[in-house]
Amino acid sequence: DTAPLKTALLSVSDKTGLTEFAAALAGAGVRLLSTGGTAKALRDAGLEVTDVAEVTGFPEMMDGRVKTLHPAVHGGLLALRDNPEHVAAMKAHGIGAIDLLVVNLYPFEATVAAGADYDTCIENIDIGGPAMIRAAAKNHAHVAVVTDPEDYATILAALPGGGTDLATRKRLAQIAYARTAAYDTAVSTWMAGALGETAPRRAAVAGRLAQTMRYGENPHQQAAFYTDGSGRPGVATAVQHQGKALSYNNINDTDAAFELVAEFAPQDGPACVIVKHANPCGVARGATLAEAYGRAFDCDRTSAFGGIIALNGVVDGPTAEAITGIFSEVVIAPGADDDAMRVFAGKKNLRLLTTAGLPDPAAPGTTWRQVSGGYLVQDKDTGRIAAEDLKVVTKRAPTDAELADLLFAWRVAKHVKSNAIVYVKDGATVGVGAGQMSRVDSTRIAARKARDMAEAMGLPAPLTEGSVVASDAFFPFADGLVTAAEAGATAVIQPGGSMRDDEVIAAADAAGLAMVFTGMRHFRH
Ligand code: 5GP
Repeated sequence: DTAPLKTALLSVSDKTGLTEFAAALAGAGVRLLSTGGTAKALRDAGLEVTDVAEVTGFPEMMDGRVKTLHPAVHGGLLALRDNPEHVAAMKAHGIGAIDLLVVNLYPFEATVAAGADYDTCIENIDIGGPAMIRAAAKNHAHVAVVTDPEDYATILAALPGGGTDLATRKRLAQIAYARTAAYDTAVSTWMAGALGETAPRRAAVAGRLAQTMRYGENPHQQAAFYTDGSGRPGVATAVQHQGKALSYNNINDTDAAFELVAEFAPQDGPACVIVKHANPCGVARGATLAEAYGRAFDCDRTSAFGGIIALNGVVDGPTAEAITGIFSEVVIAPGADDDAMRVFAGKKNLRLLTTAGLPDPAAPGTTWRQVSGGYLVQDKDTGRIAAEDLKVVTKRAPTDAELADLLFAWRVAKHVKSNAIVYVKDGATVGVGAGQMSRVDSTRIAARKARDMAEAMGLPAPLTEGSVVASDAFFPFADGLVTAAEAGATAVIQPGGSMRDDEVIAAADAAGLAMVFTGMRHFRH
């Protein structure tokens, strides 16, 4: 799959590293084609260059708006070398193959950043460059495309082997499309600004506009929802059976609930998640979905009001009856039977969403966050811990029952905003501490809420009595662990790795707790 490298077309605005690279290409016997400014730079460096104008038979014109937009160029980039009709067309029209395209675009972003006037920005929208990049990237079966001087080294490394391999060309094509997409995004975003709009309803995001909302997180914010076209089961592809349109916060919270419930595979039994403000206020397994809902509800009945409910199985009548006992905003599940539909139909304000399945928590993905002047991009957190990954660090090892609850608590903690503390008993959360700036506060808040619940339900002791506890990151001090022990926890799961692990382990031993380290952290900020 090595593509020979006989002819290269170079057309670059950023001329960094250009002459050295082109000299190396020429030295390997590659013929160089080039546009005006680039050709001049190469000639000044003593290299032999053919002008694109000679190839097209047209001069560069209209202030450079039209240089390379010609079949002699695009045919040379797009022709399939192993397709007889394409080869015949090249021959009939005198089109020569272009094996390597080296283009970087007019500096549109830098022009905008420099505060240039409208017409100058418009003139810095590159047209022929993106057209050639997209053509060469499409034809990566035969053509290599370089859009970043950083990748000159990749091509130079391939020269001794007689050309680039397919894997390299695919990677370069992926980079190329990322560049043209980002370029057009920059143009669209600038135009929105020039029009005096933020344009969430026509934003340049890689997706399709699915819904415009009355407002965003708050009534004074405009908002829209885009689907990414992946077809992944989830809130973006769900069927809504009743109720008014979902709001911005509904969609965000429904996603949080459904992603968490998907951590519990249906074959392992029914599970239910109740979410408020993107954090779970109850997560439970049960013998039935109705029981799972009831146990999730008992974790924090106060917060569950107006919540979002996600289930990992097809909702039936009894579950629907249980759910409609209080007001909930949204129910999402991979299906609902006729009985459930009838029960829900009596609750006009409840939105029922059904999906084709559960999202795959192991599926790789990318998450984005905007910061002032930039973006943070990272892999989705697909971390998973199994019993064999755990290291027992206390004198006492967890019992089988504790171990099952520890793993359950750990899975939930991954979906709770940091600092996350999750108390679990018999496959149900009994206390969730979320989003606190101090870990010991999360530990205390969760325990206090469990006490409040016990009082409200008339229980003799809080449900945290005899529970286990998960912490999404290490306990930096022993105080959090001591608080959990006082609340009745008997076992702890946490990453470990604190400078004071010894102190924390000693406190666990002193309280007779079993503690395991995961060696993995689940921050969620
Ligand atoms: P040069 O400095 O070689 O004169 O111009 C290089 C720049 O022209 C590159 O940034 C390339 O993307 C751009 N370019 C190449 N062909 C065309 C075209 O047909 N139209 C426009 N607008 N830009 C082009």
